[in-house]
Amino acid sequence: MTDAHLNLIDGNWLPGDHLTENRNPSDLSDLIGHYASATAEDVDRAARAAHAALPAWQARGPLARAELLDRIARRIDDEAESIGHMLAREEGKILPEAIAEVRRAAQIFRFYGGEALRIAGDAIASVRPGVDIEVTREPVGVVGLITPWNFPAAIPAWKVAPALAFGNAVLLKPADIVPGTAHLLARIIHEQGCPAGIFNLLMGPGSVVGRALVDHPLVSAISFTGSVATGRMIARSAAEGMKKLQLEMGGKNPMVVLDDADLEIAVPACLNGAFFSTGQRCTASSRLIVQAGIHDAFVTRLAEAMQALRVGPALDPSSQIGPVVSSAQLRGNLDYVALAAAEGCEVVGGGMAEGPTDGFFQRPALFLKARNTMRVAREEIFGPCAAVVRVGDFDEALAVANDSDYGLSAGICTGSLRHARAFRHGIRAGMVMVNLPTAGVDFHVPFGGTKGSSHGPREQGRHAVEFYTTVKTSYSFGG
Ligand code: NDP
Repeated sequence: MTDAHLNLIDGNWLPGDHLTENRNPSDLSDLIGHYASATAEDVDRAARAAHAALPAWQARGPLARAELLDRIARRIDDEAESIGHMLAREEGKILPEAIAEVRRAAQIFRFYGGEALRIAGDAIASVRPGVDIEVTREPVGVVGLITPWNFPAAIPAWKVAPALAFGNAVLLKPADIVPGTAHLLARIIHEQGCPAGIFNLLMGPGSVVGRALVDHPLVSAISFTGSVATGRMIARSAAEGMKKLQLEMGGKNPMVVLDDADLEIAVPACLNGAFFSTGQRCTASSRLIVQAGIHDAFVTRLAEAMQALRVGPALDPSSQIGPVVSSAQLRGNLDYVALAAAEGCEVVGGGMAEGPTDGFFQRPALFLKARNTMRVAREEIFGPCAAVVRVGDFDEALAVANDSDYGLSAGICTGSLRHARAFRHGIRAGMVMVNLPTAGVDFHVPFGGTKGSSHGPREQGRHAVEFYTTVKTSYSFGG
């Protein structure tokens, strides 16, 4: 097949053993292209090539890495519109969000270009006379990066950029249903002069490619973003192989709205946090915890704003919410809508939406009168659905917000400095937002959670150095 998009292994574009169709979730008649599925043997070839290429890559030093990352950033920026178009077409995010995500990927590469030049160590006084101690950071080696479908540009960028910046070699396995954006990024990384073997793209199913990558003895570290179930499975295999591990998984992120909140802030923050990007964000505000005094006014305004959102094709400039990513995800979302009613919620919105094309369109949904014990308030849905839980006061709001297996992002809308401060200190989450949506983070600061949401060192910002390097302590005497 001439239009096939191939895997990048040891600097060569190679076919794998079969091709997978990439289709547009806004319009199933739109075939985006055919993408090669790698085999376990391809993973082995890439891992060996990566391992062999490491010494020369590390010997080139930080300036070569900084300059490479800067060139990649510039090229991503130059191509942001066309990559964003691919992202919107294959994932279903509306075009402005997709282009913004691609620009963020460029910013991440630029940021880590700078970090390549700022790898620091320590000189520490020894307790023994005449002995010097130096603590330095070294690359981990060959790293396996496994990414989900919901941020096909930003998540690969925030794993690949620090991995390269700190001198590692990369095997990237993107989600099988959105290979197009990763393929464009891989072409840019290759064309900008990344040495053969240092960056490898391995497309294909997680059950084959992901598994082979996690099990490969030459892979020293695995960074994964996706579901809790897959994360658990990977953790078990990685532990068997004694690999360094970083897992970013789900969220059931609470957004508290107190009686003293400004509705002009709270309603747009919840609308954005719960429904933008079709709710397909691990930081989505999927539990709205609302104090009794403001509850009815808040719910009326939010429901009105939610029902006015225009659901439609990702590339249609009038759309505000694109389609759900796949038929399986849509079915799952609709099952949760039915479950919400069965559990006793009053459901506003939530059915399938009519679209001009054959796509996976869903109307956003609010589950009113939810209790925090219900499944719809405890399980990550990953769609445009939010449960609303009514509470009496701040203490109850904080207790409900903390009553979750997850702890990724949490928000509060309040005019009270005292409550904002108590929330920031009392909430068990990796990220806290005051009068801001739970979703939407900066590219240069740590990202990650507590409890079931994350495992291992933080991603992004300067903290990424913890995962992508290992520490060496050197003692010397004499001279
Ligand atoms: P998965 O966890 O199944 O997939 C995430 C990545 O892991 C994909 O690249 C996938 O490959 C890969 N993978 C799957 N199985 C294995 C395996 N055995 N070994 C190694 N890698 C594997 O998430 P989905 O994309 O299927 O989404 C399912 C649910 O996960 C969503 O509904 C949502 O709840 C949650 N999710 C959370 C995200 C977050 O950011 N927190 C992001 C995306 C999803 P492949 O695509 O080929 O299956």
